[in-house]
Amino acid sequence: MTPTNYSVFLVDDDPAILRLLGHWLEKAGYTVRPFDNGEEALEAIESQCPDFLITDWEMPGMNGLELCRRVRQLDLPHYVHILFLTVRSSTEETVAGLEVGADDFLSKPIDLEELLARLRSGARVLTLERRLSLMAQTDPLTGLLTRRTFFENLEKEWSRATRHHVPLSVVMLDIDFFKRINDVHGHPAGDAVLKTIAELLKDGCRTADVICRYGGEEFCAVLPETNERQAAHWADRVRRKLASHAMQLGDREFHLTGSFGVAERLDDTQNAEQLVDLADQALLCAKQSGRDRVVAFQALNQSNDVRVDQMDPCGMLFYGVTARHVMTSMVVGLRKSETIGRAAKFFLRSRTNSAPVVDDDGKLVGMLSEKDLMAEMISLDSWNRPVGEVMKPNVICYEEDAPIRSIYEFLCRVSIRRVVIVKDGRPIGTISRGTLLRWFSNLAASRGLVENETSADPRFNVDAHRSRECLVELAQELSRQAIELGHRCGEETDDLVPYVVGGATRMQELVNDLLSYSGSGTAGGTAVMGGTSLD
Ligand code: GH3
Ligand code: MG
Ligand code: MG
Ligand code: MG
Repeated sequence: MTPTNYSVFLVDDDPAILRLLGHWLEKAGYTVRPFDNGEEALEAIESQCPDFLITDWEMPGMNGLELCRRVRQLDLPHYVHILFLTVRSSTEETVAGLEVGADDFLSKPIDLEELLARLRSGARVLTLERRLSLMAQTDPLTGLLTRRTFFENLEKEWSRATRHHVPLSVVMLDIDFFKRINDVHGHPAGDAVLKTIAELLKDGCRTADVICRYGGEEFCAVLPETNERQAAHWADRVRRKLASHAMQLGDREFHLTGSFGVAERLDDTQNAEQLVDLADQALLCAKQSGRDRVVAFQALNQSNDVRVDQMDPCGMLFYGVTARHVMTSMVVGLRKSETIGRAAKFFLRSRTNSAPVVDDDGKLVGMLSEKDLMAEMISLDSWNRPVGEVMKPNVICYEEDAPIRSIYEFLCRVSIRRVVIVKDGRPIGTISRGTLLRWFSNLAASRGLVENETSADPRFNVDAHRSRECLVELAQELSRQAIELGHRCGEETDDLVPYVVGGATRMQELVNDLLSYSGSGTAGGTAVMGGTSLD
């Protein structure tokens, strides 16, 4: 950088000094802005961060020492080199100046040559500082932004999108089967391929778009003023470009593909991290459903209406069945304000491994799993943190009248194990893969599709004549369980949860058994719709 590129803010209450130094510095090529008081200078520094601040020590109002201290407290985009003009020269005062963040001192009366030499020395420090900061901001292999800088940019775009009500989308990209490249061609070849991919991504971007290397072979893009549909369109263009690009390694040529997840910021997206998380979930679906494709989060979350005319024979199974019919009713949820320690106890007592989290109005706000707790447990301080801080805020949920086919298809595609069923925003149940399997097997039993099965449970090995007896037995057992739970609840004990959860789980199992018998007993198959337990 030459002096022309450096800006200097000059602060002194003596107009003669301002004039003289201003003249010298401008002549030397610096861009100078004079201030006769600290307050105005501080305000200007905050909005137009200069490279140098040259300040007088003694000034009415805010003196140089205070100005320097306040500047160092600001969160500025780059370092400001601060030089004090002083008539003082005692060690005590020099120490005070250094303590508040001064870099250099210049005694009055000021010598032109010394002033310029000190600025040149300061410029060397600034150059180094900028080089370091650039290194911290960019990934050395690809030259793309690092994950940290990416989030800083995303936060800025997030505020802009909120303020001006413009859309904002995020795209996550993970290269398909990248490990093979390393395995077949070696790690340096893998690195070269990553560089090429980065170039392809940069090529496809507008200047406003922010692209980063999110991790190993994962990339993430922020697309300002772009909705999900447009972002998916962009992602698909990049996908096609990547797939058709012939990668060159020596004399060998090959093709690569990538999977993309897209998410747009919506009113209920809580923060930038969550937006990235939604794109990541969509990416997961892209992987799970075959790779080399773009999946958009909202499209994924919409429940498709069941089109009877397009149904395969299997589809008839689902006809008219909704989430409410199949879900496992929710026995207990966790409150957002509850501590991690209590949540851990709850998981242990109720033998569950995840639970919906609700706010004070009972509205669904997240999901807490054993895995979330495990991550926090190693720090004992965390045990008192509220559940709301560690839960996963984005829960895939469906309305109670959502067709079960959509949920079935969703759980087939993704690695997410369960969805939450809501009514007016409140969780009323869950449907996991296990719930669906149980529903299928009950349905099969009720239609007589499970033949002559010998079960360990003698109640199942019955002929049609015995089925009524079994139904009666099961109903009586159900009633015994209910009465016992009633007694337990009436007892004076401070912890009812294990009894309630255990009892309710047992009763759900009995209800399922009852439903399984309904086919061979009296009722026919239509009522076979229970789930069990809290799996
Ligand atoms: P998938 O389609 O499921 O994403 O398969 P994958 O092989 O891409 O997935 P996985 O995440 O298991 O592997 C990513 C690989 O990327 C693992 C690692 O060897 C490689 N990788 C990550 N960072 C770098 C890097 O900086 N250089 C090179 N050469 N390879 C890297
Ligand atoms: Mg003065
Ligand atoms: Mg990966
Ligand atoms: Mg990969």
